[in-house]
Amino acid sequence: MEKTANKALDLDGSQGEGGGQILRSALTLSMITGRPFRIERIRARRPKPGLLRQHLTAVQAAAAISGATVDGAHPGSQTLQFVPGKIRGGDYRFAIGTAGSCTLVLQTLLPALWFADAPASLLVSGGTHNPAAPPVDFLLRAWLPLLRTMGVDMDVELQRHGFYPAGGGAVLARVRPQGALQPLCLMERGALLGTTAIAVVAGIPGEIARRELDAVARRKPQAQQEIRQLPAGEGPGNALMLELRHAHCTELFTSFGARGLPSETVAARLLKHVQTYERSRAAVAEHLADQLVIPLALAGRGRYTSALCSSHLQTNIEVVRRFVDVDLRLRDGEGCVIVEAG
Ligand code: ATP
Repeated sequence: MEKTANKALDLDGSQGEGGGQILRSALTLSMITGRPFRIERIRARRPKPGLLRQHLTAVQAAAAISGATVDGAHPGSQTLQFVPGKIRGGDYRFAIGTAGSCTLVLQTLLPALWFADAPASLLVSGGTHNPAAPPVDFLLRAWLPLLRTMGVDMDVELQRHGFYPAGGGAVLARVRPQGALQPLCLMERGALLGTTAIAVVAGIPGEIARRELDAVARRKPQAQQEIRQLPAGEGPGNALMLELRHAHCTELFTSFGARGLPSETVAARLLKHVQTYERSRAAVAEHLADQLVIPLALAGRGRYTSALCSSHLQTNIEVVRRFVDVDLRLRDGEGCVIVEAG
């Protein structure tokens, strides 16, 4: 799996998607392979380029768990050098300090801890339900169950919700290192076993959750409904999610409420993503597809089908190829894209 030379890899943060994922994937794979890297033009394609709090926390946390030497870790930095040491288990706590996404920080660190020398616990505070990042529910219901089928021994617990812009959420993960990963083979989603619509509201009227669920029910009358009314102090915040449980995998779609945005629009946005997935024959949807690339590559072989070939997916594959000696490819399937390794 490891590339032999220990010369630092040079990465371009503006390639493809040009977002934070290039840096986060590089941190994960550098820790696991021991390969140092230098990255320039970090998040060059974003309106505010360089390291934001979430990316900086990921860098500092990766340095802490792998005893790395780092240069360029400061807010706004567009260049970073990272030389990893040994990944160590233990009890860690990291505070993002804003509503930056806890789950993106966790997804950077957790794969490294699967290969640590001892069990680890990781408490990350910040945002838990952020637009443009996986909500904790997605980790729990969609991502984690598939990783468990690959042999990952890990639990994730949502301790407190945190929404943009207040933050203040907390997520605890516990990892027991398991060594090599089993290949993932996920070509079909299998029969639909159940559908649940979940409306989360904190510090805003419960009536909003009711309207969102009613709007979903008009298109998904068979869906079970769940209202998660949180203490006002955890808000303000509102997320609407739809879970589709299939025989071989679970997908979770999310849409966020915002001041002035009608509940029906929040529901319509959610259902649009669901429809793209339902029209395809793929096992996983857009987001899970890019988040399974690293585990697939670390297992060395396996394959899965994705509803979309997003620029996130393609960019992540490019970054993984730089670090890991694995034949990772994309090819067209019937009504889907196949991501394949080995
Ligand atoms: P930036 O690009 O501004 O640096 P970022 O650091 O937040 O932003 P991105 O590079 O955009 O990161 O990556 C976001 C990640 O969040 C991707 O893996 C994407 O699949 C995932 N994601 C976004 N929205 C969802 C969602 N609704 N459910 C699950 N995962 C999501």
